[in-house]
Amino acid sequence: MKSRYDVVVVGGGHNGLVAAAYLARAGRSVLVLEQLGHVGGAAVSEAVFPGVDVRLSKYSYLVSLLPDQIVTDLGLSVRLADRSFASYTPFARDGRDLGLLVERPDGSATRASFAEVTGSDVEYGSWHEFYGRIAVLAEDLAPTLLEPLMGIADLTSRLRDPSVLAELRDLPLGELVGRWFKDDVVGGVVLTDGLVGTFADVHADDGRASACFLYHLIGNGAGQWRVPIGGMGAVTASMAAAARRFGAELEVDATAGHVAFDASGGEVGWVDGSGVEHITGASVVVSGVAPSVLAQLRGGLGAVARPVGAQVKVNMVLRRLPRFRSGIDPAVALAGTMHVAESASELDAAYAAAAAGLLPDPLPFEVYCHSLADPSILGPAEREAGYHTLTLFAMQTPVGLFDGDNDARRAEAARLAVEGLDAVLAEPLSECLARDADGQLCLQAATPVDLENLIGMTGGNIFHGDLSWPYAGEESQVGRWGVETDEPRLVHANAGGALRGGGVSGIGGHNAAMAVLSMQPVSSAPPRRPV
Ligand SMILES: Cc1cc2nc3c(=O)[nH]c(=O)nc-3n(C[C@H](O)[C@H](O)[C@H](O)COP(=O)(O)OP(=O)(O)OC[C@H]3O[C@@H](n4cnc5c(N)ncnc54)[C@H](O)[C@@H]3O)c2cc1C
Repeated sequence: MKSRYDVVVVGGGHNGLVAAAYLARAGRSVLVLEQLGHVGGAAVSEAVFPGVDVRLSKYSYLVSLLPDQIVTDLGLSVRLADRSFASYTPFARDGRDLGLLVERPDGSATRASFAEVTGSDVEYGSWHEFYGRIAVLAEDLAPTLLEPLMGIADLTSRLRDPSVLAELRDLPLGELVGRWFKDDVVGGVVLTDGLVGTFADVHADDGRASACFLYHLIGNGAGQWRVPIGGMGAVTASMAAAARRFGAELEVDATAGHVAFDASGGEVGWVDGSGVEHITGASVVVSGVAPSVLAQLRGGLGAVARPVGAQVKVNMVLRRLPRFRSGIDPAVALAGTMHVAESASELDAAYAAAAAGLLPDPLPFEVYCHSLADPSILGPAEREAGYHTLTLFAMQTPVGLFDGDNDARRAEAARLAVEGLDAVLAEPLSECLARDADGQLCLQAATPVDLENLIGMTGGNIFHGDLSWPYAGEESQVGRWGVETDEPRLVHANAGGALRGGGVSGIGGHNAAMAVLSMQPVSSAPPRRPV
């Protein structure tokens, strides 16, 4: 290891790895420092239950936002499986157990399901028109995420139908969705994309739910959420392999303690797994850590408020798929995203409860089964025995609810999640859950506080902060990459610091690398290979 690099990347999450790969590919000497014993941050796979050979995507689990361009540029071996169903929403109405099924692409079963649930073809027609317009926006907008920032006027001129973005910016998401959809269940399914990892009142005009909604529908120009074959860890492993292949050095068990700059450049102080302290010089430092973590490393410079994370993730392993009260085939119900307690009125009630300091009851959440699309994450014995995974992501559960007594609130949230599933199942979930080597049910919950403690996601915010609109908010940002800081030799690659970051996209990493490559060289060490 050298004492000085062209670039030191602090934090080996997927964005740090993407930045490192691009910069090493361009001939820069690059060192990545990751505090944990492995890279990947929130994009990792792990066998979390002792004695159960199932490699779950421990935190993030579906891929939409990762552009094909990054996959191609870096030669990533990422494989993504399509899901044949987009969603299923079981619910009870007038004593009947029903469900709204949306195929991908939608066809006769979707139309029939809308008719049964809403009583006519009107909502189905609105659905088609609404998402058809968004599909056009996604195609036009997605490529701009890998370009320097434009002002809103220039961006708008690139859109075939600018009205969709204008409506999203101008109206509270709840009002926009309410204009299109009258059915409580249908409206709720649409609204959920505005609340993933974002604590928001969909009726407020603060734009938070709308920006979140936008990013959930424009990924890679199609907005399709696909299953990473081999789990999310396979995606990150491919990024790490690319970074190494291009010559970057990845150091795990390497905790950065300070980042500072003087006339000669930057320096990063860090401690290795044996407790030995190191100081590494760098012409440029790339931050792969949350902005609030970076501010601590800089002794408080650029401090930001603790962001609010708002989800509970529950990982489960099942002995077999459960039966549903509505009678639907569980392999259909769980193939796409299953929405539970996520009608528009239930989402409103959940927000009101959480804002009043209570865990929402019923708990709104989404569930899907990875192993239906990709059994490769199951060990041979588990596959043979018919095991499956279940991934549950609850909403409107802000970090403040967990700050006092995280253990008790985690247990309560897990109980509410199980109750929510039991309400739509024809048998108790517990009868289907597998047991680990200690005889415990295979169910593991992580709260926003857990994320903060385990992987440095401040406030448990899965995007490191609120998602931003995909254009320059100020004139001074136009033509820049949206990753700059107050220090010219320090850029953000991380999800929250990089405008247009957030999610497993690598966009923050790409844009950080492009910003570094566009800088005037300040290094005394020349690039090892031509750029
Ligand atoms: C439960 C959950 C579910 C999610 N689901 C999805 C999903 O399905 N699809 C999707 O697209 N997105 C999802 N997300 C969001 C997505 O995972 C994140 O936005 C994304 O992974 C952030 O990547 P990053 O590289 O910017 O940061 P991170 O993944 O947070 O990586 C930061 C890295 O920095 C390291 N670090 C912190 N401090 C230091 C230090 N002092 N020194 C050295 N290293 C340090 C951390 O250990 C970590 O490895 C989910 C997130 C969570 C938590």
